Amino acid sequence: MREHVMPVRRSSIRWEMVEIELRGAQFREAKHAMSSWLPCRGCGLSDFPLGGSPWSPRHRAMVPMVDLGNLPLANRLLSVTSTSNAPYPLVVYYCHNCALIQLADLVPRTEMFTDYVYLTSASKTMMEHFDRYAEGITRRLDLTAKDRVLDVGSNDGTLLKAFQRRGARVLGIEPARNVASIAEAAGVPTLTNYFDLKLAKRLEKVRLVTANNILSHVGSLRDFLATVAHVLRPNGLFVFELPWVADVLRNNSFDMIYHEHLSYFGLKPLTRALREEGLFLVDLEYYPSIHGGTFRGFASPSFEEPSHLVKEMSAREEKEADFWALRDFSERVPKLAHHLRDMLLSLKKEGKRIAGYGAPAKATILLNYCGIGRDILDYASDTTPLKQGKLIPGVKIPVVSPELARTKPPDYYLLLAWNFRQEILAKEREFLDKGGRFVVPFPQPEFVDS
Ligand SMILES: [Zn+2]
Repeated sequence: MREHVMPVRRSSIRWEMVEIELRGAQFREAKHAMSSWLPCRGCGLSDFPLGGSPWSPRHRAMVPMVDLGNLPLANRLLSVTSTSNAPYPLVVYYCHNCALIQLADLVPRTEMFTDYVYLTSASKTMMEHFDRYAEGITRRLDLTAKDRVLDVGSNDGTLLKAFQRRGARVLGIEPARNVASIAEAAGVPTLTNYFDLKLAKRLEKVRLVTANNILSHVGSLRDFLATVAHVLRPNGLFVFELPWVADVLRNNSFDMIYHEHLSYFGLKPLTRALREEGLFLVDLEYYPSIHGGTFRGFASPSFEEPSHLVKEMSAREEKEADFWALRDFSERVPKLAHHLRDMLLSLKKEGKRIAGYGAPAKATILLNYCGIGRDILDYASDTTPLKQGKLIPGVKIPVVSPELARTKPPDYYLLLAWNFRQEILAKEREFLDKGGRFVVPFPQPEFVDS
């Protein structure tokens, strides 16, 4: 049985320890991090000039708040023959200067994006969401065939395909080769590149830049935003979707925290970073059921008074995503992990068979952090062919197709893809009607039956 991984208590996090880990991981900003405190990705500040010892907490802008321990890279499913996926420390920091919640950038990005296995088109919910997205923005900007849409992190081209259907010219930028080639094959022109100023200088100016669930992944956030500002026309718009950190904290969904997700955005630090790069957050839309709570931001190169919803959500966030909310979250997470594992162990004692439903990146975090291994889950079923036949890192749980899972259905499914809860429960009507049950991990572990 795999040793149960539980986190180091927050109070035991020592800065010296983090620095040693940085050295070991060949952190690409290591020189900076070691010569000073870790700089904030949002505001760039690392320490406050308050005097006194540099080790004094009063001196630091960035403080470590949540330590999930050493965990494997979430997206890197293992093939049966190659089973190495080195764990990296997963520590969440809070910036006292701008309120951005973030990770230290510990993992070389080539480690993370070469073989990306998430496909937008795998989910009906996301296909429909992106279709409405393209419809809404085509109308809002009155896009015509003269306008060009640039999607950064365009994945398999699902969103751009929806813009193409409405007559716009499109260009995708997607660093993961395997995913970019799927988009190309579907007729969506795609550059296999990172989005940076060097690339942007080769591109024509565009009316619309979209980036969905991308800003969280960006190491040099300010450079990225400057690049967006560079490539936009004066009447253009930058539209992006992100999980709202207030939802992550409220839902206890710590599995949203993984090495690929470097920043956990609230509106306050985001508005500030955008403004400092010449972009103004003018409007928002909020989708509580997409990825457990997602907002769509609209940023313009010219100033406009922010909409009512920008003001309303910013005000809510003051209490829901501040230092104290993050501290409370850090105390709830280990309790929830224990509770979930205990629930599953009791089922095992009763002789029940349990499997995972879905093998999203976040399953790697949930299973490894909670210590839910092959002694508890027989397999995880997932519709994405790229994942089938592979193993979830760390816990090494095999991923199988839904067809194979149906030949040996469990008594209980642990809902790892909880962000598609409604879609999945509707799809698994038959399983539920036959007496099958789901265990939903968040906001508190619970059973769901027919
Ligand atoms: Zn900051």
